[in-house]
Amino acid sequence: MHNVSSIYPLTPVQGGMLFHSLGAAEEGAYVVQYSSELTGPVDTPRLRAAWEATVAANAALRTAFLFEGLDEPMQVVRERVELPWYEYDWSNAADATVTSKMREFLTEDRRRGFDLAHAPLTRLACIRLSSRRHHLIWTYHHIAVDGWSSVLLLNEVWQRYLTRPQINLPPTTSFGDFVSWSRSQASTADEQFWKSRLAGAPLPLTLGFARPRAGASRIHERERVSLTPDETQRLRDFASINRLTLSTVVHGAWALTLSRCASTPDVVYGATVAGRPPAMPDVDRIVGAFINTLPVRVQTDGDLSLVDWLAALQNELLEVRDHELSSLRDVARWAGVPAADLFDTILVFENAPHAEWDLGDEGIQLRHEEYFDQSNYGFALLAHPRDALDLHGVFRPDRVAPAAAHRLLNLMAATLRSLPVHTHTPVAHLGPPMPQERDALLGPLASEGAPASAPIDVLELFLTHVTATPDAPAIVSDTGTLTYRDLQSHARLLAAALRERGVGPGDRVAILARKSGGFVAAVLATLSCGASYVPLDPDYPSARIAQMLQLSGASIIMVGDARAASDLELGSRVIPLITMSTEVAATAPASLPGLAAGPTDGEAYVIFTSGSTGIPKGVSVSRTNLAASNAARSLVYGTEPPRFLLLSPVGFDSSVAGLFWPLSLGGTLIIADPELEKSPHELARLFRQSDVSITLCVPSFYRLLLEQSDTNDLHSLTTVIVAGEACPPEVVQLHFARLPHSALINEYGPTECTVWSTYARLGPSPDSREVPIGRPIPGAIVRVLDAAGRLAPIGVAGELCIGGPGVARGYVDLPAETALRFIDDPFAPGTRLYRTGDLVRMDTNGVLAFLGRNDAQLKIRGFRIEPHEIETALRGHADIADAVVVARALGAPETEGVSVHELMKRLETMDPAVALEIVEAAV
Ligand code: AMP
Ligand code: MG
Repeated sequence: MHNVSSIYPLTPVQGGMLFHSLGAAEEGAYVVQYSSELTGPVDTPRLRAAWEATVAANAALRTAFLFEGLDEPMQVVRERVELPWYEYDWSNAADATVTSKMREFLTEDRRRGFDLAHAPLTRLACIRLSSRRHHLIWTYHHIAVDGWSSVLLLNEVWQRYLTRPQINLPPTTSFGDFVSWSRSQASTADEQFWKSRLAGAPLPLTLGFARPRAGASRIHERERVSLTPDETQRLRDFASINRLTLSTVVHGAWALTLSRCASTPDVVYGATVAGRPPAMPDVDRIVGAFINTLPVRVQTDGDLSLVDWLAALQNELLEVRDHELSSLRDVARWAGVPAADLFDTILVFENAPHAEWDLGDEGIQLRHEEYFDQSNYGFALLAHPRDALDLHGVFRPDRVAPAAAHRLLNLMAATLRSLPVHTHTPVAHLGPPMPQERDALLGPLASEGAPASAPIDVLELFLTHVTATPDAPAIVSDTGTLTYRDLQSHARLLAAALRERGVGPGDRVAILARKSGGFVAAVLATLSCGASYVPLDPDYPSARIAQMLQLSGASIIMVGDARAASDLELGSRVIPLITMSTEVAATAPASLPGLAAGPTDGEAYVIFTSGSTGIPKGVSVSRTNLAASNAARSLVYGTEPPRFLLLSPVGFDSSVAGLFWPLSLGGTLIIADPELEKSPHELARLFRQSDVSITLCVPSFYRLLLEQSDTNDLHSLTTVIVAGEACPPEVVQLHFARLPHSALINEYGPTECTVWSTYARLGPSPDSREVPIGRPIPGAIVRVLDAAGRLAPIGVAGELCIGGPGVARGYVDLPAETALRFIDDPFAPGTRLYRTGDLVRMDTNGVLAFLGRNDAQLKIRGFRIEPHEIETALRGHADIADAVVVARALGAPETEGVSVHELMKRLETMDPAVALEIVEAAV
């Protein structure tokens, strides 16, 4: 054959590269670009000759890859090739232009890539910047030459330039020998190994950092962190004392870092191996493509001490080396996942040979030596062990956001530094967050500190205003205005009726009424008896009302809506609520006992939420919970008496904020006719008529209000609070476009923590994706925990757990559910945390971003819905074998429909035959 020196097939790894390069070729994938600046008197013709001689002497630089029309691709080593050598003279260009010209040149050169069928897969450019400054750019394809080989080649080039005789004889084996050797290795053992290694691995590994912005650059960026020589020496000593390699220690630190940043104890990442089998003579001196990147799977939990765990990891890495010839494509196939899902983060522990030339005698200096190696990975950690260990993070901003890459690299460095003093610490306790960050997470980031004075009971506060401003308007509704005195009279009447029935501390009183003056009076009356109230919304189905009534164990039910009560068998337990007016209030007998705050240490109310087991859960909130929740409002919003428009229905705990906030500050509670709420446009007029200063509603309703009303009607609002569900960025934008002078606050909180736990004052230009829920309210404690109950590092997603005086007592008569959700705070023994099930991420200022749920719970227009509750109900039907409930989005056509991903997730535990029927029905 013409111009062929030898011909052989590809290694599996090369096969993989070929496949990738030909497929949907990532621009510049596997194109490596080495660049360096040469200062001093460079003899360009001599340099070119040195490169040409090196190409002539190295088969790898004369290899082409043929595949068209072949059953199996082959690599062909040409006898002779011509080295593409380009010279440019930029000595007349201004310095500023040189930088940008250079950037363009390098980008364009990478984009150009190579035609794999034509050797050589390498080219050189020598750019003259001045008589004493040249830039050398060597570009080659990774399929023929790996990083190790590139050092061998540069060594050879400079030896030739210096016209030194080759110190070493050529290696006794060739890359062709390696190919035949590697093909003789059995692959069934590989298949078994990788199958068992990767069985059940949670793939792909997802880092808990904020995802990149849409449209982020795909061009790799790099960032570097170096350990000091002292720190590096400590690591080396730690390694050698414990019979570990430095490489193992770096792997260990990386596994710990990834595991904590991905909130999983079971991590898989890629490790680059040299791929040079020690059994082959002179293998370390062969130029070729040996290198491979393979998955390493590490469990980072358990009781093993650090050294024992590292020793096991070292064995693990050795075992991987026994299977280092496998191609990633095969490994992915064996693992049953797409190759892209195996890993997107890799660790490269540099162990390539060192440069062996010295151009000092020639007066030449090599500067800014750099490889641009466009790997396919989102984040590659390159560890260069020198006197000081260098850690380079090379990342693609469209896959790993720059802030995340920065955190990852720095957490890795911190983890590494921490290891030498933790020889015997169980590995589960190691890794991020590091001590300083931990202190912040447990201290200043966890809370604002407790309020200076003990919170005062809400009823006591109300009574002080009855005394101080009896004629001030307490409630304004479509039935008229009630002063503080009127409201008190009404409550006194009801309290007397309750006492007559023997209601006292420990009793529960259900109130079946829509929000109204009567409802408020009933609440105040109940509290003054030392009893607690159970709000029941008459708009709920009567079966649901009956269920809640029964679960609450309420002995008395105050009824404001006779129609809703007619379906229920309430018998003699009923106390009707009369409509109150100033005239009626005046008829209250003077002999009635005054309204007293009563005992304030009991339960305040029970509010029901959807329950996963099929029945609603009643949350028991104490008077002290309520006092703390209410007191925090004054600390956040000030003590100016608000004119508050109550929009929440009574069954939501945000109604609690509305009732007590204005009444405990001498403000006015404004209640709209429910019919009016159906028309945002008309409701807006009420804002103007009643001079509403503050309101609180779910963001989905607030959006309608902004979209459908005349903004002039809303001008009295100084503060708008959105709460109860994630606030979309569009609502924030809409608010600031239409009401730029009103504050917009996002309040977050589950019923179990008494109305609110965190809040954020939103600004006009929110981050486009994650609207913050802010920082803890005064007194509240927040912890972001991973699945193992450890603190998540700053910036990493975890479950929001809440402590402090708002944490409720638990669920009524559901000890198991209570124990599951209300846990001991591992970081403050003797106090409790509520596990919200909400996923959040904390930034360096302690500001939380809401990310979604760790379970199936939904929020639809503020309604908290456990799909499991509905499923349980469905399964109760004789003709239904199994059921799955998922939300279906309505609205924009592109988002409309069932999320198939969500559906699949939910079907996993189901009988496959039934699951299939459900899918067919849904799609
Ligand atoms: P509820 O007990 O009905 O108040 O519902 C509490 C749940 O509503 C929380 O656990 C969150 O899932 C969700 N939620 C409440 N407020 C917000 C908010 N501001 N942003 C996002 N989700 C919220
Ligand atoms: Mg709430």
